[in-house]
Amino acid sequence: MTGISIAIDGPAGTGKSTVAREVARRLRLAYFDTGATYRVGTLWCMREGVDLSNESDVAAMVETMNVALVLDPRNPRVILEGEDVSSLIRADSIALTVSKVATNLEARAALGQWQRDVIASELEGGYSEGRGVVTEGRDITTVIAPDADVRILMTADEEVRVARRAGEGADVATVREAVLGRDRKDATVVEFHTAADGVVTLDTTDLTIEEAVDAVLTLVAA
Ligand code: C5P
Repeated sequence: MTGISIAIDGPAGTGKSTVAREVARRLRLAYFDTGATYRVGTLWCMREGVDLSNESDVAAMVETMNVALVLDPRNPRVILEGEDVSSLIRADSIALTVSKVATNLEARAALGQWQRDVIASELEGGYSEGRGVVTEGRDITTVIAPDADVRILMTADEEVRVARRAGEGADVATVREAVLGRDRKDATVVEFHTAADGVVTLDTTDLTIEEAVDAVLTLVAA
């Protein structure tokens, strides 16, 4: 028997991560944030002093990194060479640089293979003991897990996405440039604004997190 595979894509600020994590928690599934694989790859290359514009060096580096992922939705962790880097990979310095790794097709192929392996192991065993996995990213519904049982593209109006990311006190103009600039770069290698055939679009512009979670759970139950 194999578990359920739920794939959720979308740009930053759609609520994708929070919703994916909560859905995984409620359904007792693994939660797999594929953005973390790009982020930890970027951190590793920066630490090792690899020139990020050298595509084959970066690809070779990400293949050799020693990373363990904890897919518990209540406390997801990323362990690099034995060190918990879960917070470090959220730093602005990583967010500003990660697109260099994400637009490197050789590195994408290596990270993509790792992502497929993680999903496959959760469908048979792993953290979820085979119950399955909620995987979120930019190309999960299309490239990494096009055969997932449920495929959702989360969208939201640009200004709402920026406002969500800015939160309280942040400079909105700076956040806008960071979020939309990253989208622009990422969109050169993956399509995550328009749903592919068979992928359900969930527009979260006017939804609370709770409403978005309910909408996903309804799609899963259908
Ligand atoms: O989702 P998150 O913001 O953590 O993703 C970080 C970066 O990882 C994205 O900006 C993008 O460059 C890359 N990414 C990707 N494909 C995915 C997930 C993330 O290219 N499936």
